[in-house]
Amino acid sequence: MSKFWSKRTHELSPYTAGEQPQDQQYTKLNTNENPYPPSPLAIEAMRAASGEAMRLYPDPNSFELKKAISEYYSVWTDQVFVGNSSDEVLAHAFVALLKHSKPLLFPDISYSFYPSYCKLFDINYKQVPLADDFTIDLNDYSEATADEVGSIIFPNPNAPTGIALTLVEIEKILKANPESPVVIDEAYVDFGARTAISLVNDYPNLLVTQTFSKSRSLAGLRVGFAIGSVEMIEALERVKNSFNAYPLDRAAIAGAAASIKDRAYFQESCSRIIKTRERVSDDLSDLGFTVLPSKANFVFAKPEKNAEKLYLDLKENGVLVRYFNAPRINGFLRITIGTDEDMDVFMGKLKQLL
Ligand SMILES: *Cc1c(COP(=O)(O)O)cnc(C)c1O
Repeated sequence: MSKFWSKRTHELSPYTAGEQPQDQQYTKLNTNENPYPPSPLAIEAMRAASGEAMRLYPDPNSFELKKAISEYYSVWTDQVFVGNSSDEVLAHAFVALLKHSKPLLFPDISYSFYPSYCKLFDINYKQVPLADDFTIDLNDYSEATADEVGSIIFPNPNAPTGIALTLVEIEKILKANPESPVVIDEAYVDFGARTAISLVNDYPNLLVTQTFSKSRSLAGLRVGFAIGSVEMIEALERVKNSFNAYPLDRAAIAGAAASIKDRAYFQESCSRIIKTRERVSDDLSDLGFTVLPSKANFVFAKPEKNAEKLYLDLKENGVLVRYFNAPRINGFLRITIGTDEDMDVFMGKLKQLL
């Protein structure tokens, strides 16, 4: 609290990120980072871009990266927006598309950055409870409520549940809300769900966001993007160019573009994580956990006994997982999928503790 703060600053409720201990002492399964290194081609491209050219501003349009993304997803370059992390892309979407007098709808259990943005940008919002099995109930977002909907956002797969909707289900939401912008946050989509990018030409109200942080192992580079109709992308560009004209530096543009071109490496590392996730889900079930069906690079699982104590005990034993002290989910742990070796360490400690 300070008399120098604006009224808005007093009212904010900032997002709390997972712990990032700087001493590398932990088996770190708490922030959904990828355990495998980025594509070697991306590292090479970042090195090459990090020389004397740093004297010059980067391309404010990041065209090289937009072109690589548009080719990968078979869309036009003016259907692609890029930003300094998908959190930033989402922030622009909240201002450009999701702020209306009628409320923005999102699930009660979801990415906890959404309410933070609503406070920051003064957006009217309504949290819609997930069903008892932690799935999104399509009826909550369909025609009966359409006249009370300003806009909609949800992650697919959802976080921190890991549960994904099918494209058919997503289409139902889009069809029921033709007058409302719908943003789908696909931070984890590459680990087994289907992307809605194939729907953007049929639904002008759809915007899909993705990140290089999870499936492309580039959380340190801070690159995210969005794909949608030209009018949706233009809205984001207007906000971006009213805020920061050069959000991506030279290394980020070059590294992200090289990463998206390296399809073989990407597919290999995603399928490894999926395989490990399936094994860990089975092993946790065998230990008595309730494991939600995950299509992400983490599992959300409920131990038979106190989850908070287990989180603290694991931490004391050198394994970091994520615990949310929030209604409905305070009996669960969110466990990032690491390498097979990481998960063996985790399972070993877990068996000792239980
Ligand atoms: C990690 C995550 C993001 C943010 O990714 P960055 O590009 O690293 O900012 C966005 N949405 C969800 C649901 C996430 O889990």
